[in-house]
Amino acid sequence: MTTTAEATKTHDVVIVGAGIAGLALTRELHRRGISVVALEQRQQLIDAGLAINLPGNAVAALRELGLGEELKQFGFPINRREYRSSRGRLLFKIDEAAFWGKDHTPRCMRRSDLATMLAKDIPEDTIWHRRTVTSAVASDESIRVTTAAGERLSGKYLVGADGVHSTVRKLCFPDDGKSVAELGHSSWRFIATNPGIDCWSVWMGEKAIVLLIPVTPQEVYCWATVTSDVSSAEGPAALLRHTEGFPVEPRRVLEEALSEPKSILVSPLNEIRLLQWSHKRAFLIGDAAHATAPVWAQGAALALEDSLVLAQLISEIDDPHRISDEFHRLRQQRVRHVRMMTDRASKIARLPGYLRNIMMPLLGPLSYKRTYAPLKSRRP
Ligand SMILES: Cc1cc2nc3c(=O)[nH]c(=O)nc-3n(C[C@H](O)[C@H](O)[C@H](O)COP(=O)(O)OP(=O)(O)OC[C@H]3O[C@@H](n4cnc5c(N)ncnc54)[C@H](O)[C@@H]3O)c2cc1C
Repeated sequence: MTTTAEATKTHDVVIVGAGIAGLALTRELHRRGISVVALEQRQQLIDAGLAINLPGNAVAALRELGLGEELKQFGFPINRREYRSSRGRLLFKIDEAAFWGKDHTPRCMRRSDLATMLAKDIPEDTIWHRRTVTSAVASDESIRVTTAAGERLSGKYLVGADGVHSTVRKLCFPDDGKSVAELGHSSWRFIATNPGIDCWSVWMGEKAIVLLIPVTPQEVYCWATVTSDVSSAEGPAALLRHTEGFPVEPRRVLEEALSEPKSILVSPLNEIRLLQWSHKRAFLIGDAAHATAPVWAQGAALALEDSLVLAQLISEIDDPHRISDEFHRLRQQRVRHVRMMTDRASKIARLPGYLRNIMMPLLGPLSYKRTYAPLKSRRP
């Protein structure tokens, strides 16, 4: 008789990580009748307390995953964006509901609700929690994975959906060493009492940016950052200093959060730039493959789309090289586009405040349209 640690379990696809990408891929493979297991190091799914902004293409992907009704239940519709100066002057606004259309209006929701939605209908024994993958090998014939507890799994395909610091990337991809870049400054995230915000609202100052998005009429999700010349080591208190003169709404939210600093999540910003997302029978999806700064909130959308595309290819093609070629053909152009638009927006954000305020009313709406219009349809 063998113990669990000694036996090797075999599945068609072994996924490392059950974040947004891993859950979506597990869901779609299961729906297509492919034997799959996802190994997740955490006990719980995704950062329970925090929220996520889902632009129209993320909404479209969730609908394709069969979650249209759940979206309506959990996601707060974001009909409008407003970009403001640090003093509250409206620089420009975007009618997001009109841009994306009724079915794909952006939504904001708690990450834990997104995880619950994605995990719905996946059999419990398909996602193994508290399993840290410590060893992974992908050859031309098969893949093998070992967890910290000594469990061994084998299969046809290995998918690294294990985020920015991907173990699969480190162990199976020869180029990994060159791919990770930590961006100069940190950002902070939390949920607070809604001070009366009904749309996506950002205030951009000389040294700090504060974004508020309603999660419910009573709560807002806040993402705030300081410019790269302010030391992140100062911590979130730097936000209060550098937002003096901001309007009452962002100030009130920051003050509430700083009165309970434990509720604030510090988020380093990382980028992954990797040319190849497959090696032998291993694939990378989501942040593990192409994390970008969250300027256009495309992380979840790209992760969901990767999952839909890879699941379809795995279920329809029985050759890793052809799957790889098709996966790159279908995904690279889109990821390149997001990265290019992220770099452009980051440059605008770094302009001196007075210049940015002059240019934003002209450049902002154009930039929004140039970024999101090509993302409205998933096919290249
Ligand atoms: C500050 C900030 C704000 C953001 N805001 C938005 C936003 O509003 N909208 C948006 O779309 N995107 C946003 N993003 C990006 C988004 O969060 C990511 O793109 C998205 O979470 C990527 O999902 P993922 O599943 O690829 O990776 P992750 O969410 O990182 O999931 C990886 C999973 O793998 C697990 N794991 C890692 N290593 C192992 C291992 N060895 N063994 C087992 N399990 C492992 C982890 O525990 C984790 O659950 C933001 C990012 C940041 C930093």
